[in-house]
Amino acid sequence: MRPARALIDLDALRHNYRLARELSGARALAVVKADAYGHGAVRCAQALAGEADGFAVACIEEALVLREAGIVAPILLLEGFFEADELTLIDQHDLWCVIHAQWQIEAIEQAQLSKPLTVWLKLDSGMHRVGLHPADYQNAYRRLLASGKVSKIVLMSHFARADEPECERTSEQLAVFQQARDGLSAEVSLRNSPAVLGWPQLFEKTGASDWVRPGIMLYGATPFEQAQQQAARLQPVMTLESKVISVRELPAGEPVGYGARFIAERPTRVGVVAMGYADGYPRHAPTGTPVMVDGQPARLIGRVSMDMLTVDLTDLPQAGLGSRVELWGKQVLASDVAMAAGSIPYQIFCNLRRVPLLYLGG
Ligand SMILES: *Cc1c(COP(=O)(O)O)cnc(C)c1O
Repeated sequence: MRPARALIDLDALRHNYRLARELSGARALAVVKADAYGHGAVRCAQALAGEADGFAVACIEEALVLREAGIVAPILLLEGFFEADELTLIDQHDLWCVIHAQWQIEAIEQAQLSKPLTVWLKLDSGMHRVGLHPADYQNAYRRLLASGKVSKIVLMSHFARADEPECERTSEQLAVFQQARDGLSAEVSLRNSPAVLGWPQLFEKTGASDWVRPGIMLYGATPFEQAQQQAARLQPVMTLESKVISVRELPAGEPVGYGARFIAERPTRVGVVAMGYADGYPRHAPTGTPVMVDGQPARLIGRVSMDMLTVDLTDLPQAGLGSRVELWGKQVLASDVAMAAGSIPYQIFCNLRRVPLLYLGG
């Protein structure tokens, strides 16, 4: 069998979830959209089911997969509904729903529901993607209450630059939010992973945080480009690994792989690893991208191809055919691989495909 696989450490997932709660002092919706950032939404949600306050997904299709798997905790649809007729299923399956646009409020007013909904009313506090304009926020809140179709409204917004430690935009967005919600007494949810990890002082002052929405930190990857104190406490959940399936001894001057993107500068021992961009390993990872071979640091060389990539074994005489290779995991951080490839850990996790996922820790 092809040795490429991704190990998913569910104890690490639970550790990271607890850290999000501890750092924020808030209830936490575990964000498991996009198949839990490639980690498998059903297994991740099941692993957290005993303790998570709820889950968040992008859309109803993702929520229904969790309900079918027996997840009974609250599930929030982060983009709400895309068409009004989804409200029937939202009602039927007890889903929570973000409301980010005027037309969604009108749809709720006209909906036939068996019971009132829990909605999260999203303010555009400066990201300028979705959400109500601050001038319309209070009116939207009152209309939803008056509709009789809603039993609870959580006030929410989303940060655009919380991953930039010195950036003032986060406190500016918070100020816009505070002004827009002035006088509304309701629960609040503002923080994603970088805001949970990086901005505790901002929320201690205002107290405005009942719910947090950690995503990437649950999977143990940092959202920051630089080292960060709290992010260092995260435990990587996914280990992407494979094996050396072929070894070549090349004299100096010989090229390796497509496009001859690597040319041996010295006599070089090349290991071929069963892992490629069809598995989600980033094709743009350059020569020098870190890997671990039998627990020893090594480097990628040459161009990543569809099913294989090559590593430099010259300084690892013990390594050879069958050696275990960690592409990312507890030793090689996914964020470092992402950075080398001009990507982010979010994307390299979401790109994972073809490799079987193996769950550890129940
Ligand atoms: C995806 C998402 C999150 C989680 O973001 P992370 O940076 O992964 O923590 C939180 N809130 C909303 C609205 C999202 O869409």
